[in-house]
Amino acid sequence: MKKVVLASGNPGKLREFSASLAAAGIDMVPQSALGVSEAEEPFHTFVENALAKARHASRATGLPALADDSGLCVHALGGAPGVHSARYARMPDGTRSDAANNARLVAEMAGRTDRRGSYVAVLVYMRSADDPRPIVVEGSWDGEVLDAPRGANGFGYDPYFYLPDLGMTAAELPLEQKNILSHRARALRGLLWALRGEFGSFPDQDGGPAGGAPR
Ligand code: IMP
Repeated sequence: MKKVVLASGNPGKLREFSASLAAAGIDMVPQSALGVSEAEEPFHTFVENALAKARHASRATGLPALADDSGLCVHALGGAPGVHSARYARMPDGTRSDAANNARLVAEMAGRTDRRGSYVAVLVYMRSADDPRPIVVEGSWDGEVLDAPRGANGFGYDPYFYLPDLGMTAAELPLEQKNILSHRARALRGLLWALRGEFGSFPDQDGGPAGGAPR
């Protein structure tokens, strides 16, 4: 197994990523277990923030690193909250609040007819801090922003993120289904596809989904 540092201390992400990446021969170790501090995320794009996080973790540990950055991009809001999704409501004490973020989203969307929004997740895998060719994959999940919450599963913007094809919000979807359909799940499948053969193993001999597309 190849040891790889996960540039996140989030136990949910560690669980989600470890389970899938074990099949590709990767043993994920959270950066917090190696004494690595959280990197700054000052950039305007998911990919720049994910690159910065992966590079920081790899430089601090000397290990290959995996990082992700994700958020909700709303068409009528020019892509906001985007990379600011976790702190859209800007709490005075610097903490995060899903309820306050959702309240701001609802206020910004009041009276708008274009309700389109997409969850986006970018994953970056760097073999070393100076890797000139990191693996970068993006997964997205298209939906619409509701003005009233529905459902109790998930987290963040899920109660307001409506999936027209399914007729329910992400918070009404069973978690197992969200973990197959979500932006993160799609990005993870893309990463597995991109990592094929990287460590001499090939996680899925049948390759990606039909048509060869990694999503
Ligand atoms: P991070 O990538 O963990 O920093 O997450 C960024 C923020 O985007 C989260 O705090 C949520 O506000 C939002 N977000 C990302 N993925 C999801 C999701 O699957 N459901 C709901 N909100 C999400």
